[in-house]
Parts: sequence; C-alpha cells; structure tokens
Amino acid sequence: MHDLDGKVAIITGASRGIGAATAVALANAGASVVLAARTLEQTEANAARIRKDGGNAIAVTCDISNFSAMEGAVAKCIETYGKLDIFVGNAGVIDPIGPLATSNPTSWTQAVQINLIGAYNGLRAVLPIMQAQQSGTVINISSGAAHSPMEGWSHYCAAKAATAMLLNNAQLEHANDHIRFLGFRPGTVATYMQSAIKASGINPVSQMDPSDHYKPEWPAQAIAWMCTPDADEFLGQELYMGDEELQRRAGLI
Ligand code: NAP
Repeated sequence: MHDLDGKVAIITGASRGIGAATAVALANAGASVVLAARTLEQTEANAARIRKDGGNAIAVTCDISNFSAMEGAVAKCIETYGKLDIFVGNAGVIDPIGPLATSNPTSWTQAVQINLIGAYNGLRAVLPIMQAQQSGTVINISSGAAHSPMEGWSHYCAAKAATAMLLNNAQLEHANDHIRFLGFRPGTVATYMQSAIKASGINPVSQMDPSDHYKPEWPAQAIAWMCTPDADEFLGQELYMGDEELQRRAGLI
C-alpha cells in the first residue's frame, strides 16, 4: 500500500477505465479524490463507492476540452478539500478511428481538442496553484502512440506526441517550483478504449486478444506509487507499465 495520507488528488476521465481505477487506488492509499468526467452519473457512482469504503471522494462534471470547466473542477477541489497535491491527466478518446485521408475534419479536430487541448487546460488550471504552494505532482497518461505511428489513429498519435512535449515544457518552466512531473504509458489496458480499438479491426492493436491487456487496477496502482517519494528518482521521465522494475517498485509483482 502506497502512503498518500492527507493528499488531495484530481483524476480526469474517472467515470470508467484507468481513471476510475486510479481514483480507487489513490483513495485506498489515503488521498481525498476528485473524480472528473463528462458523465456525472457513473462518476458519482464511483465516488459513492469510494465513500462507502471509508474514503473521501467527490464527483464533478468536467469536459476537459473546455478551459472554464477544467477551472471549475479545480475550484471545486479547493473549495471541498482546501488544496490540490496531485493531478492525474488521464481523460482521453480514441474515436474516430479511421484513415487520415478520409477523416472527418470536424471529429478529427474534436479528438485533438480533448487529447491535446484538454491536457493543456489541465496544466493551465493546476500549475499556478502548484507554483504558489511550491509543491505538487502532475502525471500525464501518455501512450506508445505518442512515439510510434499507428494506422487509423492519426489524431490520437499526433495529440499524444504533442502532449508528451507539453509536459516537457511544463517541467522546463517549473524546474525550480518543486513540482513533480511524470509521464506514464499504461500499455494496453482492458477498458472501453480497447473495445473500440478491437471493433475497428484496423491495426495490429485491434488484433490483440483481450486477455493480453492489463487490468485497469495495474496502471492504477503504478500511478499511486508514482505519486509517492519512492518514485522521485524517475521524475521528468515517461514510465512504462511493461517495465518490470516499475511493476516491482509499485508492488505489483
Ligand atoms: P476509457 O475507458 O475510454 O475512459 C476514458 C475516460 O475519459 C472516461 O472516463 C471518459 O469519461 C473520459 N473522457 C473522455 N473525454 C473526456 C472529456 N472531454 N472530458 C472529460 N473526460 C473525458 O479509456 P481508458 O483506456 O481508461 O483511457 C484512459 C487514458 O489512458 C487515456 O488518456 C488513454 O489515451 C490512455 N491509454 C489507454 C490505453 C488502453 O489500452 N486502454 C493505452 C494507452 C493509453 P466521459 O465519457 O464520461 O467523459
């Protein structure tokens, strides 16, 4: 169990998948958690389950592609728990999957608006707070797609690559602010996103057997570990779920 007693965390994309599991992992480690996503009903149900198990959790409606909504979620966190220690930028979309040449310009741009501008909105909303308090942890959920092109995922690959660079910029500009920055590639994880990929049939990832994917609890526990000082030697890096050293340090193996 990783110790996050007294910490306050926001997790975006916490209505399901990796984000929902991360909220549970951080709450189990003692953090008060703010679960943010667009669909309130499922997000509230996740928060209620954490509260039932003795944790502190609230749900907020937040479309990360809208800066005011992101600011509102951060304000709600400060209003409820008085501070913000951890920001997990996890929300993301893979749809619409399809060839670049026939892509719909409106939906392609909307995906980038979530995956890249949403990541910017998160950083823009939390960095002034962490800079003022001279502490904080920012974890960006990246992807192998940030570093390798994949057929049918041009919007996703381009946005994830840009988001990884955005984190590097944040780190450079806040080198003296005692903010911990980490990227994380969760490998392939059994979530809605992988169901959508499988249904597309478009590239080698869609051909994978569902049993080959990590359960969401694995990246969630790795993220909880990354929030602790035990991960300090990796600050500024993008860690990978498939790395056995990480799995060992996170207590997964
Ligand atoms: P998922 O099951 O589809 O969950 C995505 C989450 O993001 C949902 O909670 C969704 O909730 C939220 N979301 C989407 N658009 C949003 C928006 N505009 N504002 C706020 N929340 C939004 O996907 P996942 O697999 O858990 O993915 C989580 C992260 O891991 C993503 O960044 C993804 O790129 C990354 N990742 C996943 C895999 C994988 O194999 N699954 C691999 C590499 C990286 P609402 O729809 O309710 O808003």
